[in-house]
Amino acid sequence: MNPELLRQYLVYYQDLGFRHVYRRGAGPRAKKIGDTPGLLQEGLHSQSNAGVSPVFFAVPSASGSVELLATIREDIGDCRRCRLHEGRAKIVFGSGNEQARLVFVGEGPGADEDEQGLPFVGRAGQLLTQMIEGTARKEGIPIQRKDVYICNVVKCRPPGNRTPLPDEMEICGQFLIRQLLAIRPKAICLLGATAVKALLLDRKEGVTKLRGNWYRWRDIPVMVTYHPSYLLRPYNQSAKREAWEDLKKVLHYVYD
Ligand code: URA
Repeated sequence: MNPELLRQYLVYYQDLGFRHVYRRGAGPRAKKIGDTPGLLQEGLHSQSNAGVSPVFFAVPSASGSVELLATIREDIGDCRRCRLHEGRAKIVFGSGNEQARLVFVGEGPGADEDEQGLPFVGRAGQLLTQMIEGTARKEGIPIQRKDVYICNVVKCRPPGNRTPLPDEMEICGQFLIRQLLAIRPKAICLLGATAVKALLLDRKEGVTKLRGNWYRWRDIPVMVTYHPSYLLRPYNQSAKREAWEDLKKVLHYVYD
């Protein structure tokens, strides 16, 4: 069953008053993992995760109760849910305005982010800051980087900056989903293919095809654009122009 459909089923059962569900025949590892207010949790073994620890799905409350980001960070704790913890220095949870009207989602921390525990602080991050603040200034929109919220699909640095693997995205993705539900922004901007894969589950096209257009994650409008690391490559001048156009669109939609 696809994860979104499963989530919808779980929300339905939550409406009926069920607080915990268990996967039939999943054995002793399918255990209840504690009470998180407003959430149902389900132990799953995904195909990509066979033989590894169970994946726990967080299901947002149908009653609409809102979590604090601090609660989510606390739940992450000193996370060892997937192999990425082995090489990390710091967990990179996210930064910015916790009530932001706009959230940017990247892929995962690089070396600088891992060292500082903050998202997008390396070269790609400096470009993202320039893009946000430069576009806002030019368009007469009075916001700075600190006014938006920035986070990633995975919170620990993948070794050698490789792309996160499906089971890593699935395990860490539950925290991204909870962050987005806690902030409830007016729009989300997805930076690159990993963020698209994490949130727009039924989209198979690449970023070049998807960028510049609006999609929806739950009821929140989503804009897709290039990842800033891609824009740093010297032959990508036209992609840079396109990313600036995408950002202009998002900023006007959110702040006009
Ligand atoms: N690339 C990302 O996707 N996220 C960061 O935080 C930094 C670089």
